[in-house]
Amino acid sequence: VPMSADPNCIFCKIVAGHIPAKKVYEDEDLLAFHDIAPWAPVHVLIIPKRHIASMVDVSADDQAVLGKMMVLAPKLMAELGVTGGFRQVINTGRDGGQEVYHVHMHVMGGPRPWAKG
Ligand code: 5GP
Ligand code: ZN
Repeated sequence: VPMSADPNCIFCKIVAGHIPAKKVYEDEDLLAFHDIAPWAPVHVLIIPKRHIASMVDVSADDQAVLGKMMVLAPKLMAELGVTGGFRQVINTGRDGGQEVYHVHMHVMGGPRPWAKG
């Protein structure tokens, strides 16, 4: 586990390869993988490789990597065959419903069988 990682963090363990994940993208800054419990036909998580616990912990140094996450999302959706649009969601803190304290962007697309009409 690299120095920028939290040894108790499940997403740092995925970055380090200590826990398996269905990876869809990786570069020096980011990793993207399928959510283990998808809420949509296509549901991936995009994370910074560096451990940042939540959006309340970001600093100006994180602007570039957060921007990369935003720009990567539509590219991944296109690669995964999503043509009808998608949602990008970041949950923050207790009242934001955050369960894993390593910043992650949910990117959810695909047909919406739950939607009306
Ligand atoms: P949060 O509520 O923190 O925004 O969402 C955490 C997400 O991480 C959930 O959608 C959950 O299914 C996903 N997740 C939690 N543990 C794992 C894991 O070990 N592997 C993968 N691929 N997803 C996980
Ligand atoms: Zn972490």
